[in-house]
Amino acid sequence: MNSTPEDLGTDPRDDPVPNELPPPSRNFAATRKVLLFLLAVSVLVPVGCLAGYGYYDYQRRFNEAADASDRMARVAEEQALKVMDLNTELASRVEELLDDMTDGQVSQNEAAVHGKLNSIAGNFPQVVAISAFGESGTLLASSRYFPVPQVNVGTRADFVAAKHYRPEPYVSLPMAASISGTSVFNTAKARSASDGRFLGIVSIALRRDYFFGFYQKLLQNDEEGFIGLYRADGALLASYPNVRIPAGALASPALTEGFTRNEYAGHLQAARFGDHQKRFVAYRRVGDYRLFVAAGFPVGGLISAWQRHLLLLCGLAVLPCAAIWALLGFSLRQLSAEERAWLQWRSETSRRLAAEASGRHLQRMGALGNLVANVAHEFNNHLMAVKSNMAIARSKGFTDVAPEVSAVERATHSVEGLVRTLVGATQKQPLKLTQVDPATALPGLKRVLQATVGDAISVNIDIAQELWQIRCDYAELELTLINLALNAREAMPRGGKLRIRAQNVEAASDAAGVPVGEFVLVSVSDDGIGMTQAVAHRAFEPLFTTKLNGTGAGLGLTQVLAFCERSGGTARITSAPGLGTTVRLYLPKSVARDIAVTEHAAGDPGRRTEFAANEILLVEDNDEVAAGLSAVLELMGHHVTRLANADDALLTLQTGQQFRLVLSDVQMPGKLNGIDLAEWLKANRPEQPLALMTGYADELERARNTGVPIFAKPFDVGDLEPLFA
Ligand code: ADP
Ligand code: MG
Repeated sequence: MNSTPEDLGTDPRDDPVPNELPPPSRNFAATRKVLLFLLAVSVLVPVGCLAGYGYYDYQRRFNEAADASDRMARVAEEQALKVMDLNTELASRVEELLDDMTDGQVSQNEAAVHGKLNSIAGNFPQVVAISAFGESGTLLASSRYFPVPQVNVGTRADFVAAKHYRPEPYVSLPMAASISGTSVFNTAKARSASDGRFLGIVSIALRRDYFFGFYQKLLQNDEEGFIGLYRADGALLASYPNVRIPAGALASPALTEGFTRNEYAGHLQAARFGDHQKRFVAYRRVGDYRLFVAAGFPVGGLISAWQRHLLLLCGLAVLPCAAIWALLGFSLRQLSAEERAWLQWRSETSRRLAAEASGRHLQRMGALGNLVANVAHEFNNHLMAVKSNMAIARSKGFTDVAPEVSAVERATHSVEGLVRTLVGATQKQPLKLTQVDPATALPGLKRVLQATVGDAISVNIDIAQELWQIRCDYAELELTLINLALNAREAMPRGGKLRIRAQNVEAASDAAGVPVGEFVLVSVSDDGIGMTQAVAHRAFEPLFTTKLNGTGAGLGLTQVLAFCERSGGTARITSAPGLGTTVRLYLPKSVARDIAVTEHAAGDPGRRTEFAANEILLVEDNDEVAAGLSAVLELMGHHVTRLANADDALLTLQTGQQFRLVLSDVQMPGKLNGIDLAEWLKANRPEQPLALMTGYADELERARNTGVPIFAKPFDVGDLEPLFA
């Protein structure tokens, strides 16, 4: 009957006691680096974005200002062109009207001329007056006044210039109109007779307010902007805002320079007008007239608007950023605090662990003391029996000593058991692995177990059908079950049931900590007091016991686990306080090739005839043991040569001498031990039969690898018999 190991139990050693966990490692430096990096990113990224956007925004605003000033300049140019074209038209009509008339003729017809001039001037809002001046600058007729007052402009700059530049028209600087006092600038054009004689000038006074009003509308009253009408020499004729420019003062030199080059249009990054405000300026020439219009946007306003916008953005961005910075700063501080706490905790933990470890060590030393006392006590009892029986034998003169010898044998047997318990727990004793059939072996142990637990506890052994054979040391198996029975008895002081079940299991994965493979599972259950989790966790530990009154040595379960592991299996505990305990033994199914160690393959029988008669080489350092073994072997009819160490044995064997058998101890003084000797023989004298014996198998694995039969001390000398077969 096979079953899957779903209830294999958990290995108490797999879930260590939380207190003994090493402190989890924490990489504070790496975490801090990441946080600092994030902090740097959270500062640099928004700053970079704002800088990039700010630059872009600045350029955009500048371009917009350039475009806007361009548009303004274009509109102002169109308007000025219209005015000037009209002016030219009016001037030529007046010229036509006056034709070759002299000063006197004009004065004589002043009334008619006045009427005509008035109708030519019409209702144009920009025109203040159209006047005709005579040869010497005397006012002859005007569109506004009749009769004209006595006025002479013979020395006025516009009169002089117009006369000088004839036939080109001339535009004057701003001035107060001669009669009305209105702020104007004049366009003056000279009249010439058909013979080329200078006849005077026709002057059209243009209202500066007209331009002011137009520009004001264009700029929508924005006094930060600027539109101006200029002469080509840079003199300002009209503007909005109405800057006060001292008489004769010119526009900024840069602007004047542009005009002088007589370009059709141009730009200036930072021109100043009369108000010292730096502006972004676009200028255009007014048709072919020697006039220019310039439109400007204040750079200062542009920059401060840009700054305000950028500041607002910064303000908005700072809010979420500040939250992130605060969060990161807080995390960094938390991290430092955590690191301090962690360091403190770690040092405290290691102090506490050290204290606990030394406490446990002391406890174990105490338990070890108890154990030594108990064992010594047991030994003394048995030695007492041996001594007293020997005394009786001596007093009988060593005749008829059968009962005494039996008593000594019994004592020896007990001591042997005691030693096995001790050594079995330390895993240093060589196993006598044999093929065991648990279906017969377990029921065979029922009597012993019943005797162990006493009458108050019933023992029930339940064997599944077709149970596999196992491979183990039968004596150890017996001891294991006795140890478990002892524990069960102590767990059930008022009686109960001890149940032993054996079945086949196949462990497919080692998820439950059970090695992969096929096992015979022997479960030993009681319904006693059970164990707490902490006790179950430590129960397999050598010298761990809860029985502090000296009844327990803490080696029982240690032997159980050691036995199972050395047989190639393992053991598990399932227990809870008040609910009883189950100990599961996983013992590997026997496989033919594994049955080996004490199967005494004594070499090739065909060759044995060549060996020296009955000569046996015994290599053993202990005189008592050597004497005992020699005596028994000689009784069996062999001749024994004894050597006290492997070095001497090697010298003897190197001579080529043949023996019926070389029987060697493993641990001996000298350079070589029994295993070295066996290896030498295997390599150099493979036909020489050899067996090793030991009571202590530190190098058991190496010994097994040699393939030499091994006898675990103490053994029955009769066990050697097959070697001579
Ligand atoms: P000892 O019996 O000498 O104390 P063991 O190694 O046999 O040493 O057991 C170790 C401990 O495990 C015991 O002291 C006991 O506390 C606990 N224990 C073992 N078997 C049982 C059981 N069947 N029921 C309850 N507790 C047990
Ligand atoms: Mg015990």
